[in-house]
Amino acid sequence: MSGIRETFTDNAEARQDIARRLRSARQRYDVTTLTPGEEWEILEPEDSQMVPDACGTLTLRRQTFECRECGSKHDTKEEAYACCTEAYDDPEELDDVDDPELDEEA
Ligand SMILES: [Zn+2]
Repeated sequence: MSGIRETFTDNAEARQDIARRLRSARQRYDVTTLTPGEEWEILEPEDSQMVPDACGTLTLRRQTFECRECGSKHDTKEEAYACCTEAYDDPEELDDVDDPELDEEA
């Protein structure tokens, strides 16, 4: 595998990209799932002299943010910040959150 690391802000986007890579890899190689939804191995053909670039392990990792207080992992910086912060109930108190959905009561 050519060691390209890509970062996505969106889980769905990342999954789509993985799905696309796996689809194209399956057209030429055998692909085994090491950990469902997380890790796959693209196997090189048995007769290959060199390991093709496309072969190797493909991993989907979820980037998480740790709460500074308790160490819990969260999907976003805002959530991690809010974890042990009571001010989370009041969106005004959060810096750089401009998601209008936060203004609505769920
Ligand atoms: Zn916490």
